[in-house]
Amino acid sequence: MSRTAKRLTGIGESCIRNMTRLAEAAGALNLAQGFPDFPPPDSLVEAAHQALSDGHHQYATTWGTANFRAALAAKQTRCMDLYIDPDLHLTTTCGSTEAMMAAMMAVINPGDKVILFSPFYENHMADILLNGAEPLFVNLYPPEFHFDADELRAAFEQGARALIICNPSNPTGRVFSRAELQVIADLAQEFDAFVLTDEVYEHIVYEPHRHTYLASLPGMFERTLCCSSLSKTYSITGWRLGYVLACQELTGAVRKVHDFLTIGAAHALQEAAVVALRYPESYYANLASEYRRKRNILLGYLDEIGLPYTTPEGAYFVMVDVSRCGFADDFAFTHWLIHEIGVAPVPGSVFFHSGETRYVRFHFSKRDATLIEAGERLLRIKQKV
Ligand code: GLN
Repeated sequence: MSRTAKRLTGIGESCIRNMTRLAEAAGALNLAQGFPDFPPPDSLVEAAHQALSDGHHQYATTWGTANFRAALAAKQTRCMDLYIDPDLHLTTTCGSTEAMMAAMMAVINPGDKVILFSPFYENHMADILLNGAEPLFVNLYPPEFHFDADELRAAFEQGARALIICNPSNPTGRVFSRAELQVIADLAQEFDAFVLTDEVYEHIVYEPHRHTYLASLPGMFERTLCCSSLSKTYSITGWRLGYVLACQELTGAVRKVHDFLTIGAAHALQEAAVVALRYPESYYANLASEYRRKRNILLGYLDEIGLPYTTPEGAYFVMVDVSRCGFADDFAFTHWLIHEIGVAPVPGSVFFHSGETRYVRFHFSKRDATLIEAGERLLRIKQKV
């Protein structure tokens, strides 16, 4: 009998972060844990130096500095085509990881059922379990990773209190269409459920796909807790700046949780980030086109090797089917790849509730030179395909 809390039952160590440790120990290129190996924009780094010199060393306002929330509200109002009030609708958090946890603690009771698309980002499963809730899985069917609307309805009929959606999706690279999101919105309204969105890849979307904010669909602002962060958009995953965007009532609940959970995100870094939140539209267009090029470098190598994959529509992950390589499962393939080839992916089964073992996930948030080096190493898989 374990001495530790029951809520930890079913929660293992993060496999994504474990792969980073294995990659480091083996000296392998890390295409597992998704974070950049290139710096953020110079002006943002300069702003951080300046913010420290300006003396923002003590606690900020719990729900985020006035400057940060004003700049974020202006940007999100523009992007989401919704009026976002800095004082009523935003809570600044320590990354979107805290945002998701605070959002869930604000609306979920122990024993509640929460719909989770599978494959899922592993943190979302942990969020459900740590809240004492129960996941109701709805499959995203490969290779396109589409859901079946009848299966989704059946999950709502089981009494779901909320649904979690990661869009653009980690790990699949899907960008859910407006029509798909409308199906979710209609069901959420019919069954009076909340929706928690993880939209950290909102600005990493490949033409012709477009990102639609679920909160912007008619009737959804009042029941959506939109979680996002600055980590991926400005290449600052270590700054831990995220937020929950929600209506006034839900923001009030999120702020209570956040206040007691972490008090607040780093004061000086919030002040610095104002510079980034004011970047012009061209910054976001450039970010998406840079990632498109990086995506194409990696996909070019996968084509040359002959491995099937699902073309990412957004985010910076690709799910690759390695079942024809002759290994017992995705973990066996991953360990071989790390130690013999020098490239680390994440074994795909950690994202599927069904234990699907055909896939590994690579990410391409890396300098071109790193991706080319990884691609050249990966070419050695060809003999196995
Ligand atoms: N979201 C990134 C990934 O899926 C980083 C995960 C993490 O460790 N925070 O790889």
